[in-house]
Amino acid sequence: MTLSIFGARTNHILSVAVPVPLRQSFDFLVPIELSQQSIEPMVGARVKVPFGSRKLVGVILEVKSESDFPEEKLKPALEVLDAQSLFDAPLWESLQWISRYYLAPIGEVIDAALPVALRQAANLMPSSKKTWSLTEQGRSRPVDELNRAPLQLALIKRFMQQRFLSADDFKDTASGWRQAITALVKKGWVEEIEAEPYLPTRELLAQIDGQASSLTLTSQQSEAVDSIREAINRDQFSSLLLHGVTGSGKTEVYFSTMESVLQKGQQILLLVPEIGLTPQLVERVERRFSQAVVQMHSALNDTERHHAWWHAREGNAKIVIGTRSSVFSSFADLGLIIVDEEHDGSFKQQDGVRYQARDVAIYRAKQADVPIVLGSATPSLESYMNADSGRYQLLRLSERATKVNLPKIELIDLNMQPTNDGLSPAMLEAIKATLANDKQVMLFLNRRGYAPVLYCKDCKQAAKCHRCDSNLTLHRRVNRMRCHHCGYEGQIKLKCDSCHSTEMVDVGEGTQRVEDAIALRFPEHALLRIDRDSTSRKGELAQVLEQARSGAADILVGTQLITKGHDFPNVGMVGILEADQGLYSTDFRASEALFQQILQVSGRAGRRDELGRVFIQTRFPEHPFFDRVTQHDFIGFAKDLMQERQAASFPPFGFFALLRAESPHQAQALQFLRKARHEMQPQDGVRIMDAVPAPMERRAGKFRAQLLICANQRSALNNTLAQWLHLIAVDKDAKKLANSVRWSLDVDPLDHY
Ligand code: ADP
Ligand code: ZN
Ligand code: ZN
Repeated sequence: MTLSIFGARTNHILSVAVPVPLRQSFDFLVPIELSQQSIEPMVGARVKVPFGSRKLVGVILEVKSESDFPEEKLKPALEVLDAQSLFDAPLWESLQWISRYYLAPIGEVIDAALPVALRQAANLMPSSKKTWSLTEQGRSRPVDELNRAPLQLALIKRFMQQRFLSADDFKDTASGWRQAITALVKKGWVEEIEAEPYLPTRELLAQIDGQASSLTLTSQQSEAVDSIREAINRDQFSSLLLHGVTGSGKTEVYFSTMESVLQKGQQILLLVPEIGLTPQLVERVERRFSQAVVQMHSALNDTERHHAWWHAREGNAKIVIGTRSSVFSSFADLGLIIVDEEHDGSFKQQDGVRYQARDVAIYRAKQADVPIVLGSATPSLESYMNADSGRYQLLRLSERATKVNLPKIELIDLNMQPTNDGLSPAMLEAIKATLANDKQVMLFLNRRGYAPVLYCKDCKQAAKCHRCDSNLTLHRRVNRMRCHHCGYEGQIKLKCDSCHSTEMVDVGEGTQRVEDAIALRFPEHALLRIDRDSTSRKGELAQVLEQARSGAADILVGTQLITKGHDFPNVGMVGILEADQGLYSTDFRASEALFQQILQVSGRAGRRDELGRVFIQTRFPEHPFFDRVTQHDFIGFAKDLMQERQAASFPPFGFFALLRAESPHQAQALQFLRKARHEMQPQDGVRIMDAVPAPMERRAGKFRAQLLICANQRSALNNTLAQWLHLIAVDKDAKKLANSVRWSLDVDPLDHY
């Protein structure tokens, strides 16, 4: 038996990607028992292999006849788990590309791409299991009928947030949930669904009251839609940048084009930045298309994710809406990719495999030979440059769909106006006038907590995190001090650590202080604070945003969570309390991010009827940056920025990679990087900067340092780094030092901290 397999000497060796941080694949022999099974080992299928003393699940990269290792040293794989590849071909190609481009171990890339259940040995096809959902009767029932049954009431509320729930979702719920569900099923308010978990059935879709009709497109919208449709009908790769001002109706453009794709029977991947945005969007899409939609984002549990992934792969789900990692969904027949708010920083994965989902999406669209649409009111400079140079087709929506003009943006000069709790008299006046006009007020401050600094009046020292080079933030609601960098939390310091004085004062504003100040001054108005502290539980953000939209609150105070793409109909005014931090930052991307943020948050004002107003508090009203801002001049700003970047050979004109290292010992991280710098052999056009401590040198007790590598050619940058990685993989000394520190390589880094 053995002979007959090995005797033939064909295709009896598997090259396997194993989920370990090693930049190589591993060879195994095809398991012997296979000759009795029908499973043929296939590229892209999972295989269980012995790895040291462990058994790991890897993925087959190649089935081959020869190994670089002596055959007698190869171990047999234990079991082939799948009869087919888990990945569609363009996705498989994209994973290889990620590994090459981001210089990430292929085993880790593949691991990141798989739902957790499949990283383990779970069956490719998820087992169907009991799922519950509200019936129409349950939906329309006034919930106060359940006042005597608090648990049933609580369950109904959960169903309102998430349409399908299974036993997994009730793990943290009170123990009587099963009886409560049974009671609700008896009442006919909840039904059990067995067949297609996590996927709305046809009957359910029919129940969703169809708002199937679409709006009449504006002429700009129809032009954009026509262009995208042409691209869809060409059946080949093309990238289009939809640059549409806030409120220009980009969503409607997406929807109209999605229709064409669905008519062809193909699937759509819609990438969005925030989980908070997906539930509403999913509902809108289902309503519009009566099509099965699956969501993919980090708040799903492992089972949900496995199911969602499966339905996309099988083609049951026609539309996949998800955040960053949904770019790894496998499709039966993908027809279009859309990246909404393509400029958003959350598309960049900041640890592990540090990919940029938008860029992966572009590569993938190319492999799949389908169009990709990138949409934003404030495109990233990278995308804008590509559109400017003609590589992407530029589609512009310069007017709002509702025919209301873009809001008027005005500056409040803080040199002339004192602030109290972060609010100038001019800002307070504007708030008052807006409220008197029955409009909502939105106040934006990108700092949560009560006060960013607690400091000693006597020795002027601020209360510091003992593990980071950073101040502790005061959180009044819970009466604690928190570090926003390492998660440390402790008691409020009543005494100074340095001089033991008890004269501690809190300085500066976070969203909580502003919330208090506003509540005090406008007690008759309902107020809603939206930041990560107020929306930390699952589903809470969606709920709070819904409250904001419905107008339940007159004043919204929030961090960047309120800036992203929301369509709140009644916001009359936006106040930006602090805009100066990004102006003089050492981070070369800070002004770009600030501009995007200001235009995005401003875009929440005056979306329906009356002209909205925006007020920005600043100490630098004469800064040229604000000329562009007040004119809503994104293009002018982008041109300024391109000149600056070109002069400095910064991205997108130059290419960066950042080698980061951290160690509990101050010297070691730097020492590692200096050695790396020495070992690297820069190719033509590659410059390696000095190894330096990170801007925040100590974080969570570790000392951090970084080495910036710049190049004017991507390939030269990539080759230099690949060569170095190869060197340290084989060099014993290098390996030893590399093992003494934690290090990571970030290609196209987004932030430099
Ligand atoms: P964007 O994402 O570009 O900021 P949205 O897609 O949220 O804009 O649309 C803004 C508002 O304009 C929404 O309330 C939407 O219903 C409305 N809208 C979009 N297109 C049209 C149209 N053709 N006619 C009327 N209203 C429209
Ligand atoms: Zn002191
Ligand atoms: Zn800390």
